[in-house]
Amino acid sequence: MSILSIASNASVWRGYKYYEGKRILSWKQIGEHGFEGEVAGSEKEPYHVMIDTEHPKKSTCSCPHAEGKKIVCKHKIALFFAAFPKEANRYIAEIEEYEREEEVREQERYDQIVKYVKSLSKEELRIALINVLVEAEERDSHRY
Ligand SMILES: [Zn+2]
Repeated sequence: MSILSIASNASVWRGYKYYEGKRILSWKQIGEHGFEGEVAGSEKEPYHVMIDTEHPKKSTCSCPHAEGKKIVCKHKIALFFAAFPKEANRYIAEIEEYEREEEVREQERYDQIVKYVKSLSKEELRIALINVLVEAEERDSHRY
């Protein structure tokens, strides 16, 4: 099981950003499946990170979020991407593909809305607009 598949989407994304921002100060391979490195985090001292690609749950990081826990933090992901740049490229290609598809879906939704509005009579338009404004008002008043 890949370390990516046991991490939250948010951790993988932030880890990618760390990798892209070159926050892995140094790293080296230790053994067949192990990597360790220093990753610049939010504190002054860099975090010491160790990942085990064979047993991802055995990976460790000295950041407060992951220390002593099995959580896959962004530093572990950043180190993983530094050690496996092809995985980073594949990850970002998937994200970009998803975003392209999402743009197409948004355009389709927009086209549908335009088509729907154009199909309405003046009276139907008035009623639809009143409904939307009332709903917006109710959403706003329930926000707090
Ligand atoms: Zn960490």
